[in-house]
Amino acid sequence: MAGKVYIVGAGPGAADLLTLRAAALLRAASIVLHDDLVPAEILELCPASAQIINVGKRCGRHGRSQEQISALMVWHAREPQAQTIVRLKSGDPAVFGRLGEELDALRRAGVDFEIVPGVTAASAAAASAKITLTDRRAASALVVVTAHNARNESLSRTMFEPARSTYAIYMPGPDYAATVKGLLESGQELATPCAVVSNAGRANEEVRYLTLGELASAKGIPAPAMLIVGEVAAEHLPRRHGDLFSKISSEARDPYHHDRFPIHPVLG
Ligand code: SAH
Repeated sequence: MAGKVYIVGAGPGAADLLTLRAAALLRAASIVLHDDLVPAEILELCPASAQIINVGKRCGRHGRSQEQISALMVWHAREPQAQTIVRLKSGDPAVFGRLGEELDALRRAGVDFEIVPGVTAASAAAASAKITLTDRRAASALVVVTAHNARNESLSRTMFEPARSTYAIYMPGPDYAATVKGLLESGQELATPCAVVSNAGRANEEVRYLTLGELASAKGIPAPAMLIVGEVAAEHLPRRHGDLFSKISSEARDPYHHDRFPIHPVLG
């Protein structure tokens, strides 16, 4: 039976800011692959039998490339006795967590996965600072930006480029045509992909992947809904990154390099 990979948000670092779902998965985990920012008190939830592997960039000797991390997930999911594999990332795994490459690899390999959201650093920081990120009298947008991207672009360049931005739009309905009109005026195109998610995380959730052109005339989208606009919304289709995939598939055959290391490099 193939294993399932749970991509889990660990929150900002306090164990009691972890979701109950994350805690339950950690307690049931057989393999945990985690990043540097995840603290020991959260890892202590895992059973003693779990294999816990730090794949973080700062983890000197065991520091792994993104392809190796993807390969480890695929390899463990394909083990004959594979059970619960947890990929634990700080904050929310889908916010600046290099998740895109890992999802591509899992889709490509046909591995079943689920994403468990977490409290992102922006929410935790606002709570610590006792401020609201969107006081309606002062702000109608919350822009989540990284000062370090994969292309080494300057902050001024990345900040306002519509084609290189994701918009997470709260309260997008009920007049979706008007929302689309505004997006087109702000520089988006009719062909720009988007995902509209009703009742996210609830039993009755509904996800539609559309283009902005299709969204303008879409009918019957239940509220409450979130609209996510931008290139990322098309990434549910496996595509592109040909080189990366071939690197991952050669790694996935033997990510521990048993041919080179007769002893397990993590346990050994
Ligand atoms: N996926 C994470 C972000 C990963 S990028 C999330 O959703 O929060 C790592 C950056 O997140 C850090 O360099 C820092 O800027 C921020 N960060 C993560 N945890 C934080 C914390 N507890 N307090 C402040 N900033 C934090």
